[in-house]
Amino acid sequence: MAAAHTETVLEVHHWSDKLFTIKTTRDPSMRFRNGEFAMIGIEVDGKPLMRAYSMASSHYEDHLEFYSIKVEDGPLTSRLQHIRPGDKLLVSKKPTGSLLWDRLRPGKRLYLLCTGTGLAPFLSVIKDPELYEHFETVALVHGCRFINELTYQKLITSELQDNPYFGDSVREKLIYYPAVTREPFRNYGRITELIESGKLMRDTGLPPLAVEHDRFMLCGSPGMLKSLSEILRAKGFRETRKENYREYVVERAFVEK
Ligand SMILES: Cc1cc2nc3c(=O)[nH]c(=O)nc-3n(C[C@H](O)[C@H](O)[C@H](O)COP(=O)(O)OP(=O)(O)OC[C@H]3O[C@@H](n4cnc5c(N)ncnc54)[C@H](O)[C@@H]3O)c2cc1C
Repeated sequence: MAAAHTETVLEVHHWSDKLFTIKTTRDPSMRFRNGEFAMIGIEVDGKPLMRAYSMASSHYEDHLEFYSIKVEDGPLTSRLQHIRPGDKLLVSKKPTGSLLWDRLRPGKRLYLLCTGTGLAPFLSVIKDPELYEHFETVALVHGCRFINELTYQKLITSELQDNPYFGDSVREKLIYYPAVTREPFRNYGRITELIESGKLMRDTGLPPLAVEHDRFMLCGSPGMLKSLSEILRAKGFRETRKENYREYVVERAFVEK
């Protein structure tokens, strides 16, 4: 497929029966910005079967990483979940996307609000040293149904903090707030509820939301994006459209059929 590179799978990690991560080689000509997505896939009956995937790796890493759902009857993921090291993965050559912090007007605090595999683009974003130069605080809020879906905690709460180049900034500025909706957990409830009730701000010590200072990136299910956008708009925040940079940007984590 001319529009895609053929990468080799280096590692596959299964977090659970619903979630897995694939690491592949990275063609040296593959360029992307943290937060963007590409089309990835495999050949089925001689034809490429591709789906949109956010890069979970950062633009400076020499491999590519994708964090994936397993949809039982999903055309791609019912097959992709069986991929193994040494297998081939197609990755489109022209990544794109809206989750770019420079598409927001300058602010003090950046909230990265995501559910499920919507975490993927933010794994790339929080590895970006430049991010910490532009914001005083970066709050990553990851909502899931169950505790075992709160993946990548080791990376977020320890490996990034120990990074020899920007670990100090991460320790000083990154707040991680995991939340769960379907079993008891210290942060229980949907992200929308946690914002509306003020629990998120109380727990993190952050001030009430202010249009002047707070910026948001949203990535999750269509329902989550709709409710969160409504809450933000009611508080006076506006979505960036084209070159009109405002207070929040949105990317779908998947399309409901
Ligand atoms: C911009 C964009 C970025 C995306 N990034 C990722 C990513 O980083 N990781 C990822 O796993 N998926 C991501 N997706 C979804 C991905 O493109 C596929 O939909 C997913 O891999 C399932 O493919 P499929 O062919 O097996 O099933 P599909 O036919 O594509 O989907 C079947 C159904 O499964 C559900 N579904 C699909 N994806 C998800 C998901 N991620 N979480 C919960 N339910 C889902 C939806 O109800 C969908 O209608 C992204 C989608 C978009 C639009």
